[in-house]
Amino acid sequence: MKTVKHQVTNRTNNIKIENMPEKKIIPPIDLQEQTASIRQEIDEAINRVIDTGNFILGDEVALFESDCAEHIGSKHAIGLNSGTDALVIALRALGVGEGDEVVTSPFTFFATAEAICLVGATPVFADIQESSFNIDVCQVQDLINKRTKAIMPVHLYGRIAGSEDGKPDMSNLKEVASGIPIIEDACQAFGAGSPRAGALGDIGCFSFYPTKNLSAFGDGGLLTTDDESIAIKSRMLRQHGEKSRYNNELLGYNSRLDAIQAAILRVKLKHIDKWNMQRREAAERYDSLLNGCNQVIAPEITCGHIFHQYTIRIPNLDRDKVKEKMYEKGVISMVYYPIPANKLPVFGDRFPDCPVSERLSKEVLSLPIWPEIKPEQQKQVVEALLQSISEIAQ
Ligand SMILES: *Cc1c(COP(=O)(O)O)cnc(C)c1O
Repeated sequence: MKTVKHQVTNRTNNIKIENMPEKKIIPPIDLQEQTASIRQEIDEAINRVIDTGNFILGDEVALFESDCAEHIGSKHAIGLNSGTDALVIALRALGVGEGDEVVTSPFTFFATAEAICLVGATPVFADIQESSFNIDVCQVQDLINKRTKAIMPVHLYGRIAGSEDGKPDMSNLKEVASGIPIIEDACQAFGAGSPRAGALGDIGCFSFYPTKNLSAFGDGGLLTTDDESIAIKSRMLRQHGEKSRYNNELLGYNSRLDAIQAAILRVKLKHIDKWNMQRREAAERYDSLLNGCNQVIAPEITCGHIFHQYTIRIPNLDRDKVKEKMYEKGVISMVYYPIPANKLPVFGDRFPDCPVSERLSKEVLSLPIWPEIKPEQQKQVVEALLQSISEIAQ
């Protein structure tokens, strides 16, 4: 087992395993079984697109959009090239730009803050709530001023942001926003919440990156809204600002969803509720396996949480050392995210500290999770974790 170390490259979606019996290694995510279970349907969907020859937008994308609108419970759904583009287009559709501020969480993937900067606005970081890893509503309230043009909460790890007591409905944040548009970064939360993520705020933004809960075989994204004018503007922005062909009215983007990805996603969408439920069951199994381990803080299993990640905290030990020791035992855990957005090199020392985010970024560790993960694999993960902890604590 000890020889695993240099034979595994630690990449989320490209795990290379050499000279090792595969069953001994537990990657952060493994969708092979899932893909095999729907392979025939996917092959048929891809072939259907090839046969029609319509590779961009078209019927497949329109059908996927209406399937998503129905699943999420929003009036409109617009297929895009990525989650990042969904965030940018959401901001543009609201007219957010130069001189405007957008309140958001620093404890997220960089794309959240990046999108705000890309439209010329300024991110204002509200620190997070320790128990949920999500934006602290009281801090949001303090940061709102006349320049605030939008609030962008992130449903991190698949847990709905914006409720103080863990209710999956964003009720507290909506109260504080009092009319300022809310853009949900729901890239980790397809199917979370009730009502569902993407139907809670004014605009929802989703990613279909291959490691997300609903994942394409490449890049993809989606924007949801109930507002007709936002929907129209978003559709224009995804295609160079055109309402009708070659009659460009806005500076937009090339951010169309590929028909092949839409066809694949339509197959997967039928299973997403089951897969999300299996993730929750896996989270419950981890929760009972970790019960009684006082070095580890397990995440709360709140209503509507779909466990895109199962992220524990190890507050009293060197997290990186625990991660490394687990790796030596064949278990690949991940850190989402090692540096909060407000402290990334791109921003230098432009932004004030967010002490909770900075502390938690040193404590978090995401354990392997995917819908089909086996109880025995989870046992192996927790054994590796507990062994690593006891080796370090010695
Ligand atoms: C994945 C992700 C994004 C970006 O999505 P892409 O499709 O990779 O552009 C944005 N925000 C969060 C929270 C994400 O997890």
